[in-house]
Amino acid sequence: MSFKEQLLAHHAAIVTGASSGIGLAVAEALAAAGAAVVVNYRSDGDRADALVERIVGDNGRAIAVQADVSDEADVARLFDVAAEAFGRIDVLVSNSGVQKDAAVADMSLADWNTVIDVNLTGQFLCAREAVRRFRVQPCKGRPARSAGTIIAMSSVHEIIPWAGHINYAAAKGGTRMLTRSLAQEVAADSIRVNAIAPGAIRTPINKDAWDSDAALEKLLRLIPYGRIGEPEDVARAAVWLASDQADYVTGTTLFVDGGMSLYPEFRDNG
Ligand code: NAP
Repeated sequence: MSFKEQLLAHHAAIVTGASSGIGLAVAEALAAAGAAVVVNYRSDGDRADALVERIVGDNGRAIAVQADVSDEADVARLFDVAAEAFGRIDVLVSNSGVQKDAAVADMSLADWNTVIDVNLTGQFLCAREAVRRFRVQPCKGRPARSAGTIIAMSSVHEIIPWAGHINYAAAKGGTRMLTRSLAQEVAADSIRVNAIAPGAIRTPINKDAWDSDAALEKLLRLIPYGRIGEPEDVARAAVWLASDQADYVTGTTLFVDGGMSLYPEFRDNG
């Protein structure tokens, strides 16, 4: 595909949590689609730098920026550095996330707070900063029909309850309503806001669920499509949602889950 034909030519994107798993694949796919990409990471600078090197080696544009998405000043700095590097910001993929699992009686307040801070407050801080920037960027030279687009990395647990993970499910449920409410609020500014809800994707966050035959077999019972998802499955959805191909799509969650949210226990007549 020539540069002119690339879906995200001339776009600049920030991907949070791009040093691993889904965020890494999303950053790589956005870059392959023509976007200049800010690879955000919290702690794994080596993997972020390696990704930047790969993108630049493929004639793409990318920089790595350390920032904690739950820290207000860090988030402002992340966007400042991005705007300085690429002149504008057109796409935010707000992907960073953590799990701190425990049964409710054993869940510490610290683990509750960490998950809410990163997975929900982080969404708010990044989305707020994106909206502020999208609103003041000049329309002239805009590479897309929208004034900017936000993609929140949610989860099937925005709708599927998850015992032993109430902090995570509460944050993702919050992300669902944050996405929909924000989309309603900023649609008149030509800003699109959507979420992606991955099912089980093969990344370090859920290694216990797929790194042995027994665990994988148990997991596959929950996935009608019969395979675990790969980060690239999510990345392709993110490229589409970020592009003008999805220009009339806002306030929705795109489930990329092999049918995990389709009540698989009812497959055999319940
Ligand atoms: P992962 O491989 O563990 O990657 C998590 C990423 O988030 C890392 O790049 C990490 O950065 C970053 N991060 C963590 N805390 C951060 C903070 N405070 N500030 C900035 N970045 C931070 O996990 P993943 O599976 O790719 O998950 C990515 C997103 O997809 C999460 O929101 C997760 O909830 C969601 N999701 C995943 C699945 C799945 O099956 N894998 C399913 C549904 C939803 P460092 O490594 O540099 O610290």
